[in-house]
Amino acid sequence: MTLLAAPVTPAASLESFPATRSQQMSEARDKGARLLGRILDRRGRLAAISFLLDRDRGLGLGGVERKADLALALGEADGQLRLLESRAWQAITRTMRPGGGEEDPRDLLADLERRLKVARQAEDAVVARFTGLAVGNLGDIERTIAATGLDADALLEEAAKADGRGGPLTRVGRADGGIVEALGAINRKLARWHDLEEIHRVLPLGSPVDYLRITSNYGWRRDPKHHSRALHAGIDLAAPSGTPVEATAPGKVVFAGWNGPYGRMVEIEHGLGIRTRYGHLSRIEVRVGQTVKDGARVGRVGASGRATGPHLHYEVLVDEKARDPISFIRAGDAQ
Ligand SMILES: [Zn+2]
Repeated sequence: MTLLAAPVTPAASLESFPATRSQQMSEARDKGARLLGRILDRRGRLAAISFLLDRDRGLGLGGVERKADLALALGEADGQLRLLESRAWQAITRTMRPGGGEEDPRDLLADLERRLKVARQAEDAVVARFTGLAVGNLGDIERTIAATGLDADALLEEAAKADGRGGPLTRVGRADGGIVEALGAINRKLARWHDLEEIHRVLPLGSPVDYLRITSNYGWRRDPKHHSRALHAGIDLAAPSGTPVEATAPGKVVFAGWNGPYGRMVEIEHGLGIRTRYGHLSRIEVRVGQTVKDGARVGRVGASGRATGPHLHYEVLVDEKARDPISFIRAGDAQ
């Protein structure tokens, strides 16, 4: 009686050797293809960063020097990957004609895997630096917008609606195609940054007169004559009669003329529901329908309408509601 199973005969394992060998090579080929895929993915990611870096004009990715520095690091990281890519191809080719005293493709692949891990650190550093530049700038803009009291997300939605596009994030993605999509999270941040930049451009962050001296703040104040409270919808800025009054953001003149207690008034629409008003002017120097640049002269300080002396009454309106202009001017100063 025999309780032991028959041992595998050496002949049987010898016979199976060619099949096993080709299976090993096929597995090595799969591994080679996987590694190659990873290398190409990473090269795609670096190419996308390089593309965005080249395209960057208005984005201002932290100055020419930092850009050149980053471009150099990008080139080095990609150079490493190019080398690994050719090694991957070499290993894959060897799996198809093994033997002949050449190095085992599996050893080549194991070596490649190790090198890929090392190369990863250089790439991660490049991606982190690029993201850092983008996110740093995005943070600055987000802070400026938050300081005005406006909601960045609501503005982005409004901007998207005004442009008749699906959303602020889809536009950049669509225009740039697959290469940028490879950047995933970085690209979403860049798209947001890009769109916030456009919003930032139309925010009235400047001062309408050269020397800012506030004689009356925005807010509710007592009206002693009528024993009531009234909203002062803007700020009063003291300035001698004839002082130039400048548009605080680019836009289109929607009113230029006499407006009751405001006297001679100019109203500018900046887009996204944001308007500014300049009252008590002694002279108006723009016409309705005219497009004005940031800082363009719209008129001169005066005392027209209900004013006891020469000063500028300045308002910032968002969706027809008056906001405190000082928070806008301060947000502009702080940036
Ligand atoms: Zn006033």
